[in-house]
Amino acid sequence: MIWYPYQQMKTMTPPYKIEKAQGVYLYTQDQKLIDSMASWWSVIHGYQHPVLNEAITTQLEKFAHVMLGGLTHEPVEKLSDKLQHWLPGDLDYCFFSDSGSVAVEVALKIALQYYMNRGETQRTMVLALEHAYHGDTFKTMEVGDDEDYHFVLHAYGKSKSVLHIPTKIGALEKAFAEYHDRLNCFIVEPLLQGAGGMRMYDVSFLKRARELCDTYGVLLIFDEVATGFGRTGNRFVADLVLPDLLVLGKALTGGYLGHAVTVANHKVYEGFYDENPAHALMHGPTFMGNALACSVALKSIELFESQDDMSRIRRIEEITYRELAGFSDPRIKEIRIMGGCVCIEVYDAETIKGYQAFAYARGVFSRPFLNIMYAMVPYVIEEEELVQVLCTMKEWFRR
Ligand SMILES: *Cc1c(COP(=O)(O)O)cnc(C)c1O
Repeated sequence: MIWYPYQQMKTMTPPYKIEKAQGVYLYTQDQKLIDSMASWWSVIHGYQHPVLNEAITTQLEKFAHVMLGGLTHEPVEKLSDKLQHWLPGDLDYCFFSDSGSVAVEVALKIALQYYMNRGETQRTMVLALEHAYHGDTFKTMEVGDDEDYHFVLHAYGKSKSVLHIPTKIGALEKAFAEYHDRLNCFIVEPLLQGAGGMRMYDVSFLKRARELCDTYGVLLIFDEVATGFGRTGNRFVADLVLPDLLVLGKALTGGYLGHAVTVANHKVYEGFYDENPAHALMHGPTFMGNALACSVALKSIELFESQDDMSRIRRIEEITYRELAGFSDPRIKEIRIMGGCVCIEVYDAETIKGYQAFAYARGVFSRPFLNIMYAMVPYVIEEEELVQVLCTMKEWFRR
């Protein structure tokens, strides 16, 4: 028996069974669906991409996996080299893990230990955002601010080591003024808060955060598990404002295999690099640096560059603005568009109940949550397919 994610098993509608997937399409026994979710925002190049398939089969003839403890191999070396050169600034040190949540845990652990290694033992607090989502493991839930996890709050009481603020510069300055000597890091989903409700905010907030972090010696962490690889219309938000630690996941492997990476800059790395064994980073997921995942990630990044995904994303954004121009409905609170993400927030969650089945009948796979209807399509989507996704959203309100 499968225990499905984010579902009340007693009342859930059965999931659609996928028999094949190709390009932007998912195939069930009776329907062909455009995947407007890109399998939780990860399948940026579509399903069964020949280059990505080949990356896996080629590596498979050598080996699928070897541990990274005491061993290394070409795929992980090539991927870390690539990331080192491709990522902005001096984000050069790549720690691999098997999922975004774990990679965020690693970032938080690094930030805390960085200060413990320096003997600044009072810096135990984390600054985070309201409505943040950083994963489903315990520390990421604590740093996150998701109603779905408030049972943890009920169980343990409000965390004394995490402070949540809104994306307002005033609140940011106030938090730093009050807590700067106790903070080890400020963690954000930059520009776009995904699972917390597709909330978008301005880059000026991040620029001010960078200044304050510099002033007070607090590490800035960008969780770009969702926003990385072009989703916001920037390659990485880290291209605009440079964090000390960057977390990538989801689209890292083009959605082929679960893998993630925590990338540290020189300052952070040097906080661990000395003669003292107790200053080492004691972490090591069993499947970190998996050879199949690294091989496909490397090819996915090469595709991202060679196919000029950034201009594809700009095209997606243009078409989205064009199709939604002038569209409104009294039940809609706000329509938000950023790069390859579009979201329609309604006042009442009831308004979009039944949308998934409606979209299914029209050849679109969608998975609204809370009071949010949204699309994060694969970048390889054709114009008419994207128009179909957007028209299906509009049609729902015109019934
Ligand atoms: C999905 C997500 C995570 C968690 O990644 P998993 O691979 O599901 O563990 C963390 N942070 C953000 C911003 C995410 O969107």
